[in-house]
Amino acid sequence: MGKLTLKDLDLQGKCALVRVDFNVPLQLSEKTNCYEVVDDTRIRAALPTIRTITEAGGKAVLLSHLGRPKGQPDPQYSLAPVADYLSGLLGTNLRFSSETIGSVVQKTVRTMPGGSVILLENTRYFPEETKNDPDFAAELAKLGDIFVNDAFGTAHRAHASNVGVANHFSLAAAGHLLENELGQLGNALQSPTPPTVALLGGAKVSDKIGVITNLLEIVDHILIGGAMAYTFLKTKGIPIGNSLVEEDRLGDAQEMLDKAQGKILLPGDHIVSTDLNVPNTSKTVSGSIENGFMGLDIGQETVEMYTQKIMDANTCIWNGPMGVFEIPEFASGTRAMAQAMASTTRKGAVTIIGGGDSVAAIKQSNLHTEVTHVSTGGGAMLQFLEGKSLPGLDALTDHP
Ligand code: ADP
Ligand code: MG
Repeated sequence: MGKLTLKDLDLQGKCALVRVDFNVPLQLSEKTNCYEVVDDTRIRAALPTIRTITEAGGKAVLLSHLGRPKGQPDPQYSLAPVADYLSGLLGTNLRFSSETIGSVVQKTVRTMPGGSVILLENTRYFPEETKNDPDFAAELAKLGDIFVNDAFGTAHRAHASNVGVANHFSLAAAGHLLENELGQLGNALQSPTPPTVALLGGAKVSDKIGVITNLLEIVDHILIGGAMAYTFLKTKGIPIGNSLVEEDRLGDAQEMLDKAQGKILLPGDHIVSTDLNVPNTSKTVSGSIENGFMGLDIGQETVEMYTQKIMDANTCIWNGPMGVFEIPEFASGTRAMAQAMASTTRKGAVTIIGGGDSVAAIKQSNLHTEVTHVSTGGGAMLQFLEGKSLPGLDALTDHP
């Protein structure tokens, strides 16, 4: 990785300002009328870094954004419920500061004993955060002696709390989560054990052009599913009925197919329906899709073909559901791919999955613990798979 990590830091007696990714889904509980954490994956993922700091006698000052509060305080995006939740996980009394910057929180942090943890209110309550404003970054930097970035999920953004702030520290290091994510993804891209397979689906070709282009240089097969498959099929002149298609990406799709020389596999059969909301009209069709029907999942023959490729792989990277998995009638293709990922992992393959919806889908199948790595980053993982650098990582101190 070439950057400082926690191992390189003397944490004893230090105050570590830690950018975590606590951008977790919250839900208003009818019982308590309070917001509660719905998925704690990202909170748990930050625990190793927090514990390393506190166990070494340091203090941890945690910074995060949550949602999109439009640059001003908005109670539905408060990190207070996350502080309660984290407190339970850590088993210590965690402090929460409703102020993110300023003299009050500076004093609180200064007087906290070693081993304490404090979570500060949402950085996106300030419009300066997403503008990477230097003055705001300088204010944040007053809250620590050293900086640790453990927020892989925002590493593709250059914001004040992950990039601007790092410039103010002579020691800015990657936390365990960031180091682990980059290690897992880096190995899969830089030294994968072949055969290597990428399974790509989801809503839009336009989101994944960069990923497909870069992966074509690295992997042996790219298996395409999801709505994005129909843009590719249309390019090939296969009738796709009323399926979603990005007309302005037909040229890109053709270019990728030309470059791929057979590496890109497309679904040969589909589960179709007249309408997303009328799943009872669904049926499986082979080859073309007639007008009035739209493709909403891959069919059984495609499932078998893709499963075989995944089972033969030694490295497999997955982003993007194979169909509209949110609706049970169109979830079977995605479920089957989750099973294939788990089975090939059992056989010794290295498997990586990332993307908000993809991770939700594999959790739905309860197979998220049976793959090698579940990434906490959607956009950040895609940017890494595109072969591009991540500003959040670039901003950290180089390893001497
Ligand atoms: P991720 O969040 O894992 O990166 P995306 O956001 O790219 O994945 O895509 C997920 C979305 O794609 C889901 O909401 C799913 O319903 C949708 N989708 C998948 N296949 C289809 C399809 N055939 N038609 C319409 N939408 C689809
Ligand atoms: Mg998504």
